[in-house]
Order: sequence, then structure tokens, then C-alpha cells
Amino acid sequence: MFGRAPKKSDNTRYYEVLAVPKNASPEDLKKAYKKAAIKNHPDKGGDPEKFKELAHAYEVLSDPEKREIYDQYGEDALKEGMGGGGGGHDPFDIFSSFFGGSPFGGGGGSSRGRRQRRGEDVIHPLKVSLEDVYNGSSKKLSLSRNVICSKCKGKGSKSGASMKCVGCQGSGVKVSIRHLGPSMIQQMQHACNDCKGTGEMINDKDRCPQCKGEKVVQEKKVLEVHVEKGMQNNQKITFPGEADEAPETVTGDIVFVLQQKEHPKFKRKGDDLFFEHSLTLTEALCGFQFVLTHLDNRQLLIKSQPGEVVKPDSFKAINDEGMSMYQRPFMKGKLYIHFTVEFPESLSLEQCKALEAVLPPKSSPQLTDMELDECEETTLHDVNIEEEMRRKEARAQQEAYDEDDDMHGGAQRVQCAQQ
Ligand SMILES: [Zn+2]
Ligand SMILES: [Zn+2]
Repeated sequence: MFGRAPKKSDNTRYYEVLAVPKNASPEDLKKAYKKAAIKNHPDKGGDPEKFKELAHAYEVLSDPEKREIYDQYGEDALKEGMGGGGGGHDPFDIFSSFFGGSPFGGGGGSSRGRRQRRGEDVIHPLKVSLEDVYNGSSKKLSLSRNVICSKCKGKGSKSGASMKCVGCQGSGVKVSIRHLGPSMIQQMQHACNDCKGTGEMINDKDRCPQCKGEKVVQEKKVLEVHVEKGMQNNQKITFPGEADEAPETVTGDIVFVLQQKEHPKFKRKGDDLFFEHSLTLTEALCGFQFVLTHLDNRQLLIKSQPGEVVKPDSFKAINDEGMSMYQRPFMKGKLYIHFTVEFPESLSLEQCKALEAVLPPKSSPQLTDMELDECEETTLHDVNIEEEMRRKEARAQQEAYDEDDDMHGGAQRVQCAQQ
């Protein structure tokens, strides 16, 4: 088969991909491929590259001739022997031929071509409180869905028979032709609306009395959604195959997407919790204690160390009192407390004297009368600095806009001046 002995290339990788020994029997290979392909099928959220690799490895090793070439000369020899393309068949076709198209209980699970259609997933947002995700909770939700009519088993007729749709001759699609020019036409395909794309019609007298020929009926179903501890905002909880049923269709999933509501007291950042607490100046200087009610209603006593001073805008943390961690039942993040300090608006002369007596001395030195005489008097005004900066910025923008306007209207204005 080969003119010269090809350089030996890798001849173990395909066995590793399928996780089988080199002396694996055809049955072993079959079993290994079946297991891995189901696990890695892209329709079930698997990695498409891995799926492709599995199919290719199986394709080679399941063919005795190819396997022998591979064992003797390796991957590169096969590529040469198979005309460069590596003999790549569609991995989905390999998969379907293997399973006869129904590995997931009813269909190939893909919308590709002749394989069975997959119904749409139904997405529901699910509002949860911070307490729900801290403690874990379960919610019962009543949903209505289409299910295959039990009376006619999804046929839509009493007899089980159906007629070809006249409108589309049973193809389910209609083709319309648009003339784009003298020698150009465009063909457009769209679902036939006489039969809603099914290609079938049911005789009025033969219609199933339960579903009136619709093939499906509405059913109320209660789903219990388990919100686990530590689940994140936007995390999905999936109920496979619980979406609307339709004939000859793999039923899609119902997917709940968690939407965590804002909490009035706690903020969550990943596994940590943040809590705002305001201290009076006296508490900040002389100590404080308060009770913090946690998300599971436990009462935490929060207190300062004796002699400790808490500075404004500072944080302190309590370990293992933060958010519950997802699927790590005994782990919790940190609870951060952000302290703000309320200063008194003003103090009386006596209060100042009393404070000066106990607080550290003033930093600015006492000035002599002569030094004071040489200084100019000033007045300090209260300002809202953010507001002032915002106003200044808006004015600067307006001026830039006006200038731009001047440039465009300039020529006209010169003309006017000349008249
Ligand atoms: Zn039709
Ligand atoms: Zn029916």
C-alpha cells in the first residue's frame, strides 16, 4: 500500500481518546464509544471537539483494516492512505448509525437535517430572595404545558390515519418564487400554513374528540424547584424534557434562571456578604456593641475591643458568616461590616473644652498676634463638592458645544456683518 515505509507516528492516541487498552476487542470499543459519545454529545451540553474526536477514533479502530494500519504506522499513515482528508465522516452520522438515531429515548436530539426535531426549551426567570439562596429553599410552581394527547397518541385522529395536506402535497413546506429581474428568480421556502408545516390534514369526522385534531392537550403541572444554598444570580435549574410536547419531537427542557432580589440590609458579592453599620462618634471612639440579625434569623453580637477606635469608612470582617457556598454545605464566605461614623453637627464651647482636655493636642501651633496681623482673613463656606463638580462639567460641555456651533454658523454670520 505504501511505496516507502512511512515514518512511524503516534499510534496510541485513539486508544486513549476512547480510554481502552490497545488489545481492546471490538465489543470493548463499541461499549467505550457508546458511553463516551452519549456523555459528550453536544446536544447534551458536551464539548463538540471531544465528540468529534471520539467519533473519529471509533471510526478508525472499529474498521479492522484501518486499525491495522493505525497500529503499525500510526495516525499520519492513515491520513496518507485515506487521501489526505483523514477520512473524516460527519461525527453525528457515525453517532446516529451507531444508535439508530435514538440514544436519548426518542430521537437524535438534534435539529440537524433528517434527524428528529428538538422542541424549544422554555426559560422562566425565578425571583429568589437572599434568604432563599442563603438557607436553600424549594418553590412549587404550577405551569401549563402541551402534552401528547393520550386518546389518539398524538395522531390527531380517531382512526390514526391522516391525509396528505393538499396545500403542500405533504411536504410541509411551500415554495414561493420571486422574480428579481428578467433572468433572476429567488426561491423561498416557508412552512405550509394549511397544515402548520406537518404535511398532514385530518378529516373533520375523524378528528380526535379529546384534542380536536391538535395532537396535544394542555396539562397543568406542578414543578418543585430546589434552590440550593449558595446558588448564584442567573444560575440555571433545568428540568430536562419538561417543556411542551409535540409529535415526533424530542421534548425541550424547562429552565429556571435565578434572579436574586436586592436585600434591604445585606449585599452579596460572590461568597461574601456586606453589611452597612453607622456608629455615633462616641461609639466610634469609646466602643460599641449591637445585635445583627443574620439571614437565618440568628442573632450575632457585634462588639468592639476595649480601647479600640473605629475610623470612618472602615471595614471589619467576620469569618464563616458570609454567604453559603454552592455544593459545599459546611463552607461560608466572610461577612464584611462597613462602618460609617456620624459626627455631631456642632459643639458648644464647654464641650470643646472638655474634649480638648482628653483628646490628643491640636496639631497647628498657637500663633502670636504679630503673626496673625500678617495674615489675610478668609471665610470657609460649606459646599457639596460632587454637585459643584457636576455643574462645572456640564457648563464646560455646553461651551464646547457652542464653540462647535460657532464654527459651522461662522461663515453665515460674517456675511450678515458685511451687509
Ligand atoms: Zn400543508
Ligand atoms: Zn387526541
